[in-house]
Amino acid sequence: MRNLLTDAIVLKKFNIGENDVIVVLFSPILGRIEAKAKGARKINSHFIGHLETLNICKVQLYKTSARYTLTDCQAHATFKNIKNDLILLSHSYIILELLYLTAYSNENSTEIFNEVLNVLNTIEIHKTLLILDAFKLKILKLSGNLPLTSFCTNCQQKFSTDKTITITDEAQILCTNCNITASQHIQVDHNIIRLMHYLNETPINEIKKIKFTKKQHSQLKEAINIFLNNFLHQQLKTEEFSLHLN
Ligand SMILES: [Zn+2]
Repeated sequence: MRNLLTDAIVLKKFNIGENDVIVVLFSPILGRIEAKAKGARKINSHFIGHLETLNICKVQLYKTSARYTLTDCQAHATFKNIKNDLILLSHSYIILELLYLTAYSNENSTEIFNEVLNVLNTIEIHKTLLILDAFKLKILKLSGNLPLTSFCTNCQQKFSTDKTITITDEAQILCTNCNITASQHIQVDHNIIRLMHYLNETPINEIKKIKFTKKQHSQLKEAINIFLNNFLHQQLKTEEFSLHLN
């Protein structure tokens, strides 16, 4: 049994019993964990206002072999701009779902936690459309699930003159000579691959506003989602909701 103090983001929460809440947290030192917040639904609870989804909190936990109990929670970032904008909120929920699906408990997650802080702070201030795409690429890269974007997966040739590039449902990126065997696939402009490369190589808070057409952005999203679906073996539920808003 021991007391722990850590930063954490609230990924989701659900009610249990008469007044309690189970909260799913993502912490840099603990990864994804569930903790019980006793009495959190009582009107005079000291958790009220702090334990909201998306908040970054300083949390105090009591750990036994069976479970974590949340003993204190002080929110220090609440992302008011995001919460007041339905599209930004839907993007942030996609980020939380991605974390929920890819993070494990008792795993040091400092790098990814810092990326999440960075991405939410950037969305809160800049509202750049490409930030969510960039975050998905970072998750793919950190988990080793992003194919090399500069070379054909099949013949290893560097993409240089190819005008059209094929991305298969198995997440292969193929040049014009190799695309014949691909069954299920999409075709994207070479600029999409270059944009993907840029987003992947640039720190999230330094991503510039880039001019792109609606069609190019939808191609980019489609390509990244093929890689994600291959990694997660499922579609993100929050993404479907977000499609209705755009
Ligand atoms: Zn090839």
